[in-house]
Amino acid sequence: MSPSKVSILNFDNFYNIVDGKRQGSKTFHHGVDPATGQKLWDVPIANEQDLDSAVTAAKEAFPAWSDTPIEKRKDFQGDWQAGLNTASFDIGAAAGFMAYHCGLKIPEEETEDDEKTIYTEYTPLGVCAGIVSWNFPLILSAGKIAPALLTGNTIIIKPSPFTQYSGLKLVELGQDIFPPDVLQAVGGNEELGALMATHPDIAKISFTGSIATGKKVMAASAKTLKRVTLELGGNDACIILPDVDIKKVAPEVVMGAFLNSGQVCIATKRIYVHESIYKEFLLEMVTFTKTNKIGSPDDGDNLVGPMQNAMQYEKVKDFFADSKAQGYKFAAGNPDNIPSSSAGFFIPPAIVDNPPNDSCIIAEEPFGPIVPTQPWCDLDEVIARANNTTTGLGACVWAADVDKAMQIARRLEAGSVFVNSYEKATPLAIFGGHKESGIGGSGARRACWLS
Ligand code: NAD
Repeated sequence: MSPSKVSILNFDNFYNIVDGKRQGSKTFHHGVDPATGQKLWDVPIANEQDLDSAVTAAKEAFPAWSDTPIEKRKDFQGDWQAGLNTASFDIGAAAGFMAYHCGLKIPEEETEDDEKTIYTEYTPLGVCAGIVSWNFPLILSAGKIAPALLTGNTIIIKPSPFTQYSGLKLVELGQDIFPPDVLQAVGGNEELGALMATHPDIAKISFTGSIATGKKVMAASAKTLKRVTLELGGNDACIILPDVDIKKVAPEVVMGAFLNSGQVCIATKRIYVHESIYKEFLLEMVTFTKTNKIGSPDDGDNLVGPMQNAMQYEKVKDFFADSKAQGYKFAAGNPDNIPSSSAGFFIPPAIVDNPPNDSCIIAEEPFGPIVPTQPWCDLDEVIARANNTTTGLGACVWAADVDKAMQIARRLEAGSVFVNSYEKATPLAIFGGHKESGIGGSGARRACWLS
């Protein structure tokens, strides 16, 4: 890409990107630096009129964009991707999503019967909307924008009100590259999301967020029968077999639970360790957990950063409080030792040793650095325990005997099951959930064309 294709972005002012313009608003909200608790920049809140303007503009941009040859659409995306610096995991992975989609071809199928030739072609839907959660604002936005634009749709992104900044800038970056109104962004909260879900001229919503909100989006979308892809919460089980190399696997399992401070939809959220190695494995997990430095991601090699926002900080603290109130044993972490939020939303990671099956920490998704472990002895019983949830996003199985692990993996009710790895999403594979963890999926060729 020639560097002249994108202007240098100003990171002190944030705008909605509507009808080719950087737009302000009469109302604003702001994020909070989770590592310091300090107020961040004001961000405009889009209203219903702004959304209507964006949808009208996207609708008008759709015929020319969908007629643009796919190779040309890929060129635009390549230029947009090159405008990102690979400065952090979220930015690098977002660029990876764009690069992956630019490598795809839209398949065409041709079949003959006795009297006719049948063509199956994947045609764009029109105006799409992406509603995004706060834990990976760039990856989740890019994962919706890249396939939508590649397949000839226009798209409007609504970032989470907790993390507006990067999503709005990602779309602003595209304004010098894509034709007008192909890519737009409206910042706002749940009211704006709800308006998107009912908007008659939005053909599809790709939503990432909680199960509770996903149900609302699906119910609202039913009014206009718009298509939905729902990428929702999970409660991922991890099954450890007795033949694992404990010193090697225990730290990996901890990483799977506490990466991004547990704020990962497919983080490991329930750990089932064979009873013959339970004590030793737990000890290794605790030892490794204690080596992880806690602090601002800006300061050197800290692994455990803060909760992204005050709401999540309080929610995760409730899991600590409940586990303490019920008398569960903390193998790592201390419910009485959580720093006050005045210095940032930090929560030192905790491992809860063998709470009962009906405990909140087993039955619900904390989305933070607290994870339960339980022993098991009977394989059928632990698989039933792992599947005893209304969710089914990811899962993992660890064993030296890979064939056995694969057999167990196939019996787990989850969209993505990993063997000898913690849960790591990739655009190369369809990413979606069983049960209440979602509908449809993203990533991979098939999900992209059928969206
Ligand atoms: P959330 O459901 O509160 O919000 C997600 C988005 O929906 C935000 O942009 C919000 O403004 C918007 N919204 C809220 N109410 C709405 C409504 N009525 N109609 C339309 N939009 C509405 O979720 P969150 O707290 O931002 O995210 C955390 C959850 O997301 C966790 O459960 C996590 O597991 C899940 N998640 C899932 C995936 C996945 O790919 N499966 C990825 C990341 C996060």
